[in-house]
Amino acid sequence: MDEFALIERYFARRAARMRSPLVVLGIGDDAAVLDIPAGMQLAASVDTLVSGVHFPTRTEPYDIGYKALAVNLSDMSAMGAEPIAATLALTLPEADEGWLQAFSDGFFDLAERYRVQIIGGDTTRGPLSITVQIHGLLPRGAALLRSGARPDDAIYITGTLGDAGLGLLVAQSKQQVPGPQHALDRLNRPEPRVREGMALRGIADSAIDVSDGLVADLGHILKASGAGARLDVDALPLSPAVRACGEERARALALSAGDDYELCFTVPPSKEAALKRTFGAFSCGYTRIGLIETEPGLRCMRADGSLYIPKASGYDHFK
Ligand code: ADP
Ligand code: MG
Repeated sequence: MDEFALIERYFARRAARMRSPLVVLGIGDDAAVLDIPAGMQLAASVDTLVSGVHFPTRTEPYDIGYKALAVNLSDMSAMGAEPIAATLALTLPEADEGWLQAFSDGFFDLAERYRVQIIGGDTTRGPLSITVQIHGLLPRGAALLRSGARPDDAIYITGTLGDAGLGLLVAQSKQQVPGPQHALDRLNRPEPRVREGMALRGIADSAIDVSDGLVADLGHILKASGAGARLDVDALPLSPAVRACGEERARALALSAGDDYELCFTVPPSKEAALKRTFGAFSCGYTRIGLIETEPGLRCMRADGSLYIPKASGYDHFK
């Protein structure tokens, strides 16, 4: 199978089934062409997954395809953007047809669920790595920025924290843990909070998706906003599986483990009612976990008022 047959069979054919009205030209030319509706802005973001770094080498190809797109959709959600189109740069050690079929199924199943059209890509040979660039739309000026948090904003998180970190322990078969399948699913098939992010336009002052761990990612909001925060560690939302790990371990997972792709966002007191109205419809749930303060730094507090010092911060590729 040559490069062009591979592109046609596993990517171009299924991509052509989706016809976004904004895609003037999709796969097949030197570049894709998109229409940007009047009054809208383009949000663009790219993420690479490297085998053995971002996913264990034995990860199922379906899950690799799914996650490569999911992490990019998550970035759109953290901006409040509506994802519309993606490109896919694939570096493969070999053209394994079974692998390609499963990979493209994982990728397209998620793309079709969110009506994201695949508009192009690049296919090369080398160590397995997947790069997806995502494009989304925002009403002019409506982007949710990391820099928008203000003192007295409440800090919220969607869903639950620490599950993907637990899943990584399972995947590395390092130890027996509670709820191994739930944890693996959260690691391999994160649910990007796309509709939730869009619903936060005009409500949240700031937002970020939790990819590197809550302490690290909330830290990015604080730094960009020139603010500090108190975090109520006993309020962190935990799944039964993470809770069953024991208090200390559960807390460490929820604060420092990455890959959950939940949305962390801040809301001013004047928007609390709007948040409740809009967010009630979402099944993932959301939890108030702290408060933005003027004093710089992040203070993790126990329910009894004592200070808690997290043991590890987030993942850093170059640390
Ligand atoms: P060029 O040499 O002009 O960069 P390519 O030969 O790399 O073009 O690709 C041909 C067409 O197929 C282009 O439209 C490109 O965007 C698309 N394409 C290549 N690889 C992929 C892929 N893995 N998934 C989707 N589209 C792809
Ligand atoms: Mg090319």
